[in-house]
Parts: sequence; structure tokens; C-alpha cells
Amino acid sequence: MPWCEECDERIEEEDLTEEGTCPVCGSEPIEHRKSPWYFKFMVVATVIYVIFRIVQGILWLSHHL
Ligand SMILES: [Zn+2]
Repeated sequence: MPWCEECDERIEEEDLTEEGTCPVCGSEPIEHRKSPWYFKFMVVATVIYVIFRIVQGILWLSHHL
């Protein structure tokens, strides 16, 4: 999804001008510069952290029951 740095807004693919620029300010949007692997990595890291916290909680409970 293209992102306009000038407007600080996401632009819909169909809203882009024929030149592929922002319809509001006319500057060239950043297209998919934030590679998806980074987001996937963040999601995986968050899931691992949450699982780790849950396991930690279960271990804590098992020691205190
Ligand atoms: Zn713009």
C-alpha cells in the first residue's frame, strides 16, 4: 500500500494519479518500502513474547499451588 510522507497518509492504489503520485500533494509516495518481513518478524516476536509470558505464568502458578 503506497504511503505519502508529505500528507502522512496512506493512499489507496486507485486514488494515485496516472503518474503514480499522491493525488493531494503530488509527491511520490513510498511504496512498500517497509518490507513485509519486518512486520512478520514483529508479529512473530510479539507472539513468542506472549507465549513466553503465558508459560512463565503457568510455571509461577504451578510453583505456588
Ligand atoms: Zn501527499
